[in-house]
Amino acid sequence: MELRLFATCFIILIGFNFSSGAVHAWGYHHGVHPDHWKDLFPTCAGRLQSPIDIQTAEVKTDTKLGKFNFHGLSLARDVNLELQNNGHAVQVDLTGHGSAVSGGGLPGTYVVEQFHFHWGSEDTRGSEHEIDGKHYSMEMHIVMHSNRFPSVKDAMKSKNGLAVLGFLFDVGPHNSDFDEIINHLHDIAHRGDHVILKSFSLASLFPSTDCYYRYYGSLTTPMCYESVIWTLFKQHIYISESQLNQFRHLGRTHFPGSEDLVNNYRNPQPINCRVVTSNCIGSYTSTYTKESKTGVGKSYADDRNSYIKNFLMKHFPSLKWKV
Ligand SMILES: [Zn+2]
Repeated sequence: MELRLFATCFIILIGFNFSSGAVHAWGYHHGVHPDHWKDLFPTCAGRLQSPIDIQTAEVKTDTKLGKFNFHGLSLARDVNLELQNNGHAVQVDLTGHGSAVSGGGLPGTYVVEQFHFHWGSEDTRGSEHEIDGKHYSMEMHIVMHSNRFPSVKDAMKSKNGLAVLGFLFDVGPHNSDFDEIINHLHDIAHRGDHVILKSFSLASLFPSTDCYYRYYGSLTTPMCYESVIWTLFKQHIYISESQLNQFRHLGRTHFPGSEDLVNNYRNPQPINCRVVTSNCIGSYTSTYTKESKTGVGKSYADDRNSYIKNFLMKHFPSLKWKV
């Protein structure tokens, strides 16, 4: 009896600790709401915060922004990929052979440390960045640190210490390039779960990276350090509704039956005095929209060409592909 009483008290105590911890932890819809992150983390109240709503009419063309060079993103055999549910997002950590990015107006070489996803409970929301006030279904962030530093943690307080490549998603056909990730989501159903993935070419996930927006901002999660060179690519990735649904059914906590991990995005922040630039003139209408599902419009043709290119890169990695 006493043992049972002790056990009950212990469970209540544990439960209290978890729930009181949650009150002080940052979150999106539980714990500290994004509007109040700045109360706990003053750096989240800076004037160079991310994400932003990119108003395309205000974007300035910068012809000095060149094409990106990707190094080692296709050398899948040398990279270890660990998929994890961290309670805030689905994240893939890269270790081993350095995958790096240069060019694209970056001041040097940046090493890829991880990539992760933000998504919504429905198709009309999920992305962090907006384009002319429009949300997208999902956003993928490739997080990199300058090679002047050993890690993201070491670089995140230094100006231009970090660079993030952002990709927006539209709902469209099944995208098999994401199969290795999505087929393992059931292994990371709860916070803290992690699994090693079979290596694959990270570049195979990318659409065309020729045209992009550039601005200077912050991490979109606490501590919101303003050390990030942001790139948002104009061509989107597409993914099917059923693929998206598998992200939407992940759990937010350690416990079975907890709420779904959805709507894990921060809303756009004031742009203040910042100017968004682009290496390409005009917008790039490459999205696979619901309207174009019945026919092959220009936009879908672009995505299809990208799909073919990615397929060839994936299956003939020994050739020298420029992406
Ligand atoms: Zn992110």
